Amino acid sequence: MQKLLMLRLGELFLKGSNRGYFERVLFENVKNAVADIACDVERIQSRILIKNYDPAEENELIFRAQRVFGLHSLSPAVQVETDMQVICETALTLLSAPRFRVSVNRADKRFPLSSMQIAREVGGYILSKSPEATVDLHNPDCNVQVDVREDGCTYLYSQTVPCERGMPYGTSGKGLLLLSGGIDSPVAGYMMAKRGMTVEAVHFHSYPYTSQMAREKVEELASVLKNYTGGRLKLYCISVTEIQQSIHESCQESFMITLLRRFMMKLSCRLARENGLQAILTGESLAQVASQTVESINVTNSVTDIPVLRPLIAIDKIDITETAKKIGTYEISIRPYEDCCTLFLPKNPVIRPRIEEALRQESRLDVEGLLERAYATLEIVEL
Ligand code: ATP
Ligand code: MG
Repeated sequence: MQKLLMLRLGELFLKGSNRGYFERVLFENVKNAVADIACDVERIQSRILIKNYDPAEENELIFRAQRVFGLHSLSPAVQVETDMQVICETALTLLSAPRFRVSVNRADKRFPLSSMQIAREVGGYILSKSPEATVDLHNPDCNVQVDVREDGCTYLYSQTVPCERGMPYGTSGKGLLLLSGGIDSPVAGYMMAKRGMTVEAVHFHSYPYTSQMAREKVEELASVLKNYTGGRLKLYCISVTEIQQSIHESCQESFMITLLRRFMMKLSCRLARENGLQAILTGESLAQVASQTVESINVTNSVTDIPVLRPLIAIDKIDITETAKKIGTYEISIRPYEDCCTLFLPKNPVIRPRIEEALRQESRLDVEGLLERAYATLEIVEL
């Protein structure tokens, strides 16, 4: 008899012949997530097992596994040989409330008893040993689950903890996240990582107009996001100070954000292309602010030839905030700070910019020179 954690795979079953690949990546991701804790990680048919750990570490192992994308749920379980006497005795130890049921999954079709027969025998044993116990198939307080696997072992458990679901990190291409210091963009990065996309991030700052603290805030956000990106996250920083000064001097005030966004997008495209990243990710949510109307989004989007994915586009702020709290970025995001977008903030930003007008404003600038000099400020931050 051995205590272990049994992890169930999520929607990987959709993947047909690629399934083996997804399972291998998921297995590696689980191993990485618990690499600094002494334990063994094993694969069996449709399951991953974590074994041989110090019981004092169990809660931490559960916490880590809950955050690995691609797992559906997990259970602290007991592994025994597939033998009815041993199964019955072990099931009895899992009884945590008198009103119970037994559920059986017989993956090992060679085992001579049917699921029904196993359930009846285990239930009968529990009733015979525990006088106050009663069977309740529909509303049990304790569901003793018996999983008879192909490896000659049976796994018993009565508790199931939900995991993040999603797709294994690193199986859905690579994206460049535009990471500000706000609430939304870290959530956008988390959501894309959850769909399996490898995430790298870029932050635009206007140092010295924006402070060192603003920069540290973004680094802290990136560090929290790292919990969901396999423990690694590359953060690029680019200065847009000269671009903003130039727009401020030469263009209509109300176009500041629109034009700045176009520059950010052009710089992001180049960064993505040079680093093999296939998509740009933003935290935009339709109609949240002036720069997120469909007209504004079109004017920003028209500079790119790379897909721009906006996972929050139809999500309400309240729900975004809830996710930010769940993933641990909210408390950092609400710290006061100056974003580059607040520098020279127009009193009345254009809400429905027209592309012709944006281009006319932009033609007053040395666009190529500004882009070149901004790109030269590129730094890579080690987190
Ligand atoms: P967030 O909470 O993510 O800052 P927001 O609601 O404040 O979003 P905006 O400031 O309009 O919205 O920004 C929209 C998106 O543009 C952000 O989600 C982010 O992806 C990107 N963005 C804005 N400012 C920056 C910046 N300084 N550096 C990198 N990306 C940025
Ligand atoms: Mg913002």
